[in-house]
Amino acid sequence: MSQRPRSEPVPVTVPFTDLAAMAREVWPEVGAQIVTGLLEANYIGGPAVEAFEQSWAAYCGARHCVGLANGTDAILLALEALSIGPGDEVLVPANTFIATVEAIVRVGARPRFVDVDPGTLLVTAPGLAAAITPATRAAIAVHLYGQMADMPAIAAVTRAAGIALIEDAAQAHGATWAGEPVGRHSAIACFSFYPGKNLGAFGDGGAVVTDDPQLATTVRVLANHGRHGGAAHYEHDLLGLNSRLDTVQAIALSGKLLRLDEWTAARRRIAARYVERLAGGPATLLVTDPEAGHVHHLFAVQVEGRAEVRRRLAERGVQTGIHYPVPCHRQPPLRRYAEAALPVSEAAAGRLLSLPMFPHLSLQQADRVCDELLAACDVRGTGVMSGSMSGAGT
Ligand SMILES: *Cc1c(COP(=O)(O)O)cnc(C)c1O
Repeated sequence: MSQRPRSEPVPVTVPFTDLAAMAREVWPEVGAQIVTGLLEANYIGGPAVEAFEQSWAAYCGARHCVGLANGTDAILLALEALSIGPGDEVLVPANTFIATVEAIVRVGARPRFVDVDPGTLLVTAPGLAAAITPATRAAIAVHLYGQMADMPAIAAVTRAAGIALIEDAAQAHGATWAGEPVGRHSAIACFSFYPGKNLGAFGDGGAVVTDDPQLATTVRVLANHGRHGGAAHYEHDLLGLNSRLDTVQAIALSGKLLRLDEWTAARRRIAARYVERLAGGPATLLVTDPEAGHVHHLFAVQVEGRAEVRRRLAERGVQTGIHYPVPCHRQPPLRRYAEAALPVSEAAAGRLLSLPMFPHLSLQQADRVCDELLAACDVRGTGVMSGSMSGAGT
């Protein structure tokens, strides 16, 4: 129209994630299997679910896997199977997704928030040790962003205190610590297969893995209305609920599991590029422990003036996320559990910014994200406010 064309090219959008790219990759095998499963009337449970449970247990190096409806139920049922309930206190990092805490409150226990390490933003053994009280019955270690917490050290603390240890591995499919996978140092590890996770279904899904056959059986019974299975369809030994993995999700997960290592390798290449380009710059990178086999579910950095940086990135076609903008203990339903000061979690919540991270992101796109992030931070740093950039080319 009357406006003259902009001097800069229209920016190519870099999406925050691309779940459809993963679906397209597995569809040739998975699509046909889903049709077969549905036409054979396998909807809930059945051979596809059993096959996935076996594959996921094997992948995790665990004896047992129980498929569930979602990751929140995995944590809830793990707590319940460990007899955690009213009167009990459960330690949980303040920097986590709210589901970890929801599960604690849902079983009637009381969450006790623990602050996180300023470098990794993960829960630490000393942090947990300092928070234990006579009422503490369990601790949940959350492997946030794809990096495992120091499980050997954390397990030493919980063992000495005689309390149960649970892992929230919803963001840590395939992550390791000193070469060991999730689940080696805890009673039970909980996974989510929400579509956006590193291993994601075509809907909701979750699982627990454990070496303890009794715990696995209890979770399975609880997740199926307290039934022990077999012929006794209407005999309910425990008061359970309905939290089962279905056939469609199990087939999708088995198909994607074949690609998980390749997809993790792609995430690692992207993360390496981000580190190479951004280290020492205005955005503070999270620390990766040398013992951690990071699977980069998210690539979070910390920036000053986040709202402005994020707005500029959006203007330039780069989508970002925030994980998480409000720490759990500041969420209205959980405020009454906030006791101790949690300065690291609070400061991080105001500065965290998650950059695009998914297996099909190209290194060219990652470079583009870095260029735009550095430019956005630079504009802020020199005090030049938004609006002046559009004239930069003239
Ligand atoms: C996604 C997630 C959960 C919950 O999993 P759902 O399958 O969405 O119920 C729990 N904890 C963490 C850290 C998560 O990221």
